[in-house]
Parts: sequence; structure tokens; C-alpha cells
Amino acid sequence: MKISDKMLRKYAELIVRTGANVQKGQVVQLNISVEQHAFADMVIEACYRAGARKVNVDWNSDTASRLHFQYADTETLGMVLPWEEEKAKQGVKDLPCRIFIASDDPDAMRGIAPQKLSDVMQSRARVLKPYRNAIEGKHQWVIAAYPSEKWARKCFPDTEDAVDRLWEAILKTVRVTEDNDPVQAWKEHTDFIESKAAWLNAQGFSSLRYRSANGTDFTVELIPGARWEGAGATNSVNGAFYIPNMPTEEIFTSPAAGKCEGTLTAVKPLSWNSQLIEDFSIRFENGRAVSCTARKGQELLERMIRMDEGACMLGEVALVPKESPVNQCGFLFYETLFDENACCHAALGMGFKEVLPGGDDMTMEEARKRGINDSIIHVDFMIGADDLSIDGIRPDGSIEAIFRNGTWARGGETGT
Ligand code: ZN
Repeated sequence: MKISDKMLRKYAELIVRTGANVQKGQVVQLNISVEQHAFADMVIEACYRAGARKVNVDWNSDTASRLHFQYADTETLGMVLPWEEEKAKQGVKDLPCRIFIASDDPDAMRGIAPQKLSDVMQSRARVLKPYRNAIEGKHQWVIAAYPSEKWARKCFPDTEDAVDRLWEAILKTVRVTEDNDPVQAWKEHTDFIESKAAWLNAQGFSSLRYRSANGTDFTVELIPGARWEGAGATNSVNGAFYIPNMPTEEIFTSPAAGKCEGTLTAVKPLSWNSQLIEDFSIRFENGRAVSCTARKGQELLERMIRMDEGACMLGEVALVPKESPVNQCGFLFYETLFDENACCHAALGMGFKEVLPGGDDMTMEEARKRGINDSIIHVDFMIGADDLSIDGIRPDGSIEAIFRNGTWARGGETGT
């Protein structure tokens, strides 16, 4: 392994200080693979040095998870035991800062029946989702990545130095180099994203129109007053600014659930439950996905859209210029954290109530009434074609170019 200890510590510090922004006296919940125990120690130490009161670790293992799915039955796996529910309850009380280090083998669940995976997920969500809703917007969290051997081999199957190459890509996208100050680099990056979001918010668009030669021809309504957000978020309880995803390139909002029309054509494969859906497009009528075609994985895509009532509606639209460093890496990461930051995308399923003014304090029921979609899934798919154009349309009918040829149009660029 060529990556130096110094670089690893720099990265751990960045995750804790800039990503999670751990505050003095806070409890931290770290979720990390047992394989990454050495890096876990670096993160734990960085948390304590930032003033954490206690760092609790949830160790996970993708190989163990696979064994559970292979041998245990659906009912048992779908059960949330009282102590697990107590833990979720405690989380609502303590509001710990959460750090997730993603490193799973993208093929970890290959061969496990998709129906079993979705049944277990649905059954657990019935008990745990209210607790997840209750902490939404009220705690800091961050997802960052650490390349495991299997993940790296999936991205670079025929190379000896797969892990090094994945490291190189990850560090490039999270703006960590041997001699830079990544905290400063992130400040400039988030300032840029926030200036774009501010421009979008000042425009007051009521709908967006997407067009590309690949078949994308789509209009979606936005929720009046809903905000475009990007880069960071603020914990509504303690005011701490944090960066939920590292890397992050997107500016996003939740569109009006059930109010879109037309076809979206994907430009990159979608990896869901360890399976690939390729060359697909989804047609929407009256805001709902009514049909889809895929060269590969069509059945899986149809199953996804039927997961629950909200799974066929959009929860997110996001703008990412094609110059994104993730896109420049030029390969599929098989990990949404990266792949969704490659180019423009939309997501089926759960929306973000925090884009509504006062949304953090709304119940999901209230947010739904305002147009935010509700679902147990949130699956991003990439629609940022090189020739993609996006127009913003205001309530008075005036039109502004937002994207041309897959990147910011001039009006957006100048911020006027
Ligand atoms: Zn997104």
C-alpha cells in the first residue's frame, strides 16, 4: 500500500473536522467495516481530539451480512429486536453525530434473492423509519469512503494495483493531496457550490425542462419556496455546519412529488442491491413512473419502482456539471456516494423535507402535504448527458438557461 500514514491521518481529520464537524462534548457513532480497524482508530482519535465526549463504534462486515442473508430466514432478518429499538430511541435522545465509512464489496449481496433483500428492508423500515425521521436535520452526519480490496478489484478487475488506483481516485475527489490544506480546499469548493445554489434560489423557478439527444425530454415541477441546497447542511439543534457526503459536487432540491411528465434516459449504469441496471430509460406520466425499458436489469428496475407507493415518484433532482472530478476519473465506482456526483441526476423515492423552509421541524406527514415524496427507497440515477440542456421556467413563463452541453450555462456562471 503506497498511501502514507500522513495522508490517511489528513483524510481522517478532514472527515471529522470538515465532514462531521464534531463539536465539543458530542457523542459520535462511527459505522465502519472490521477490515478498516486501523483507519477506525485514526477516526476515533480525530474525534476525541475534536472534543468528542464518547465515540461508539458499530462494526460491520459485508461478508458476515452476506452469510446472514444466505442462512437466516426472511422473518428473522426482518425483525427489529427490542434492544435495537431501544438503541434507536436512545439515538433520538442523544442525537449523536454519525460517521459512516463506506468500503463494501459492491458484489457482497450478489446471488441473494432481491425479493429477500427488499422484504427484509421493508420489514425493518416499518419499525425503524419513525426514529430515522425523528433525527432528520437534528444531527450531523457524513459518509466517506475507504477502498477495500474487493471494492477496488470490482472497479479495476485486471490490475495489480487496484487498491492504489481506487485510493488515487478517492483522494482526488475529496481534494486531499500530499501538500495541500484540504480544509481550505473544501472551503473554496463549498463556497462555489453555495454561490450556485444562491443563484438558483434567487431565480424562483417553478419548473425545469430537460432535453438531450439520447431521448431525455422531461419536465418537472418544483415546490414553491423549496430551496436548492448543496455541499453542506446545518444541524438545526446546535447550528453546526457539516458536509454529509465526501465527495460532493451536487446542488439538489426535492421536486413536487407526482408532478412531472416525460422521459429520462440514464447515461450510466445503476448498481442496486449488487446488481446492475444498464441502458435504461423511465417514462413518467402524471408524476409517476409508468414504464421503463432497460437493456439489462429491467425486472430489477420494475421491482424497485414498486417497492412502495412513493418509489415510482421523484424525491430529488440534482445538478452536477460534467467537469466533476468524479466524472473525470472515468470509471464506475459502484458506489452511489461517488457515482451520483459524476453528473446530473434524479432520484426515485424519498425526498428531503429540509429543503422546505422550517422543514426540519415538520413531520413527514406535513412534508408530504407540501409535496415532498415519501418512500423507503432513495435511488439516484444519472441523466447528465454531454449534450444535456436544462431550462428553468418561472411562474410568469420566462425561461432561463441553467445547463447547456452538460454544464452550467453562462447565466448561471456569472451568478447574475
Ligand atoms: Zn443526489
